[in-house]
Amino acid sequence: MRPEVQAQLAPFLRTVAEARHAVLLVDYDGTLAPFHTKRDQAYPYPGVVPLLQEIVRNGRTRVVVISGRGTTDVLPLLNIRPRPEIWGIHGLQRMKTDGSTEMPRLDEKTLNGLLDADRWLGYQQLRHTAEFKAGSIAIHWRGMSEEDAEDLRARVLLGWRRIAEYSGLDLLDFDGGIEIRASEADKGDAVRTFLSEISPATPAAFLGDDITDESAFRAMQGRGISVLVRPRWRKTEAQFWLKPPDELLDFLELWLKACTEHNTFDSGMAAAVNG
Ligand SMILES: [Mg+2]
Repeated sequence: MRPEVQAQLAPFLRTVAEARHAVLLVDYDGTLAPFHTKRDQAYPYPGVVPLLQEIVRNGRTRVVVISGRGTTDVLPLLNIRPRPEIWGIHGLQRMKTDGSTEMPRLDEKTLNGLLDADRWLGYQQLRHTAEFKAGSIAIHWRGMSEEDAEDLRARVLLGWRRIAEYSGLDLLDFDGGIEIRASEADKGDAVRTFLSEISPATPAAFLGDDITDESAFRAMQGRGISVLVRPRWRKTEAQFWLKPPDELLDFLELWLKACTEHNTFDSGMAAAVNG
């Protein structure tokens, strides 16, 4: 990790070492895992899973994944036990650690809009480019030539713009595609909801890469740290930038070290009290 970044992160990591519990909120695609043209093969960067596994096993950190994917999509890619809590579809869906899922309640207007968006793809013979989720449809053009991607985007938007307008759905560009979805939630809402359930004293961090993570970065302001994880820096509201995979792995290692230090600190206290 660049020494200046490590120095900037040090005060936060100290709070992690000193706290009883900490929260690590992470996006999945582009953050923990490099992009893959086959989405079901987008496994995390080598080294990420063992470190996250150790962090979870240490017991002081709640790891929560907040992804644009559906929750069940993330599980086979991020094989960690016990399974972390997962918020899917930008927070429209929530799967708790016991596997129970809270599904979005979508109103009729939203559902009809999604049906129309799907019909439009059928009409344009573009269904094979789509990923269907509860509350959203995403079109992916990763791996296509720039020209093909632009053509695909134009054809999709030709129908979706109007549909989004009359049905109140959101159109959302992301890295490698576009999505039409229920407007009830974004990652910022997910982060705010999650943080409202835990003690304000609990150190928290959010790691993300995409434009859709910016609302989550903003939601962390005054509450914890926000980290852009991306090979190249871009304009962002995140406080820190880590270049994956190396600096991401360094960060996770430092986090784990902070949690382990806490254990030492704790047993030292216990010894002092008992002695
Ligand atoms: Mg991402």
